[in-house]
Parts: sequence; structure tokens; C-alpha cells
Amino acid sequence: MIGVLEVVGHRHGRSFDDEDERLLTGFVDQAALALERVRLFEEEARSPVLARSDELKSSLLAAVSHDLRTPLATIKASATSLLDPEIAWTDEARAEFLHAIDEETDRLALLVDNLLDLSKIEGGVLRAERAWYDVAELVADVAGRLAATVAAHSFSTDVAPDLPLVRFDYIQIRQVLTNLGENAVKYTLPGTAIVLAARRVPGAIELSVTDRGPGIEATVLPRVFDTFYRGEPSGRVAGSGIGLAICKGLVEANGGQIWAESWRGAGTVVRFTLPLDPDSEQPA
Ligand code: ATP
Ligand code: MG
Repeated sequence: MIGVLEVVGHRHGRSFDDEDERLLTGFVDQAALALERVRLFEEEARSPVLARSDELKSSLLAAVSHDLRTPLATIKASATSLLDPEIAWTDEARAEFLHAIDEETDRLALLVDNLLDLSKIEGGVLRAERAWYDVAELVADVAGRLAATVAAHSFSTDVAPDLPLVRFDYIQIRQVLTNLGENAVKYTLPGTAIVLAARRVPGAIELSVTDRGPGIEATVLPRVFDTFYRGEPSGRVAGSGIGLAICKGLVEANGGQIWAESWRGAGTVVRFTLPLDPDSEQPA
């Protein structure tokens, strides 16, 4: 049932006859048909959106189920081993298990943050809570958080002196830098250099993560920011292909742009800007 028609009284006070009933029934049938047509039309308009979100959900599940299971398995195995009353672990072994738990928990937390951001970006409900921040402090914070991840690399930061304050969503931009730092570690050999840099460019602050890894083929370079895109050789490295898509969504929500430059065999640099809007007053 899509509606009820209530008929109250007759204009000339007489009761309804067969003719009236036929007329009203015809009227109701037409109204029902018209409503049905509108409903079908709306459904048709909505189905590409639904199909797109269904597609997204299944790709997402396929992509992340492995990424979720691997760290969980490591955490579970390490905790179970540590709790085993039969085994007296050496200090070194205990530290190794605890390190594994620490690292894999960070990886899980990053993945969950990325998934939440992706759903907001895809749903068109991502908002940047922009406030004034010091980029040097942001870079130091990210460097600290990445310390365990980059431990096997030669990691450094390079922040230009006297950068002005800039308005951005701190949590979101920290997530961008963390994702870029994670990629730099994942796709390059231990011991190679990774640099987290910040400098002033006309109208913006530019942040970048540079590595000395295998680089990205020029033909696929424009696709690395697509959702679920993963490069060929990365088949061996864990990942869902959502890190850079999220970076793009977050940077754009903050009014900036993101792009990658790469040289096959010589490394990759991913840069993004945070605009210094000239109309807004700097706080004292
Ligand atoms: P996720 O970030 O979701 O765990 P991912 O790292 O595969 O998975 P993205 O961060 O979006 O996904 O990167 C997309 C692809 O771009 C990667 O699979 C990889 O092929 C390539 N790529 C990204 N960063 C680098 C880099 N620094 N050096 C070489 N290739 C890279
Ligand atoms: Mg990544």
C-alpha cells in the first residue's frame, strides 16, 4: 500500500452510487500509477550510486581483509607466546614480541583511520577542521610517530627556517604525512634515505616525502592516487591501494594539491601544498 484516499460526503448530500464509485476507483488507479512511476524513476536514478557503493564495499572487503588479518595474527601470536607459563623467555625475546605487538598495532590503527577517512571521502562528508599550526611541529610529531617504522632506513627531516603558521586540519595532514612515510618505507630497501621536508613556495607551504627507492613508472604515475590502485611489483608488499587515494582526498579537503614525481630506479618524491590564504589574518 502506498496511500489511502479518504472520501468525505457528497456535494448534494446524496449517497455514492455505482457511477461515483467507478469514477473514484479510476481516479485512485491513475494516482497509484503516477506514484509508482515516480518511485521507479527515483530508484533508477539512485541505482548507479548504490551499485558504485556496493562495488566499493566488495573491493574494500577484498582489499583489507588480508591487511587486517596479518597484523592481528602477529599480535595474537606474540601475546599468546608471552603469556605461555611453560616458557621462560629471555629479555631479548620478550622485547622482540613486544616490538612486534607495538608495530602491528600502529599498522592496524593506521589502516582503521584510513578506512574511516575513505568512507567519509566516498560519502562526500569529509570536513577539514582547519586551525593555525606550526608545520615544523607537525613534521617533528610525524617523525616521532614514524620512528619505529623508519628505524631500518636513513631517515631525516629538512624544514626551512621561519615558516609562517598555516591553517589546516592537524589530524588529517598528519595522516597524509604518515601514509607517505609508510609508503617510502614499504617500497624501498632498508638503509636507503627518506627525507620529510617542508618549505615555502609562492602562496603555500609545500611538504614532501622523498625516497631513493625503485621509483614509479611514468605511465602509472597518474594512477597511483586512484582508489585501490596498486603497482605491479608491490604484489609482495602488504597494502590495499587506498593510502594515496586518502592522501589526495585529505589534501584537497584542506585546499591543497598533491602530486608525485618519480624517476625509474632513482626514487620518488610525493609533494603536497597547504595554501597560505592571503585574506586570513595570522594570529598574534
Ligand atoms: P595502502 O597504502 O592502502 O596500504 P598501497 O601502499 O599499495 O596500500 P598506495 O599508498 O595508495 O597503496 O600506493 C599505490 C601504489 O603506488 C603502491 O601500490 C605502489 O605501487 C606505488 N607507490 C606508492 N608510493 C611509492 C613509493 N614511494 N615508491 C614506489 N612506489 C610507490
Ligand atoms: Mg600506501
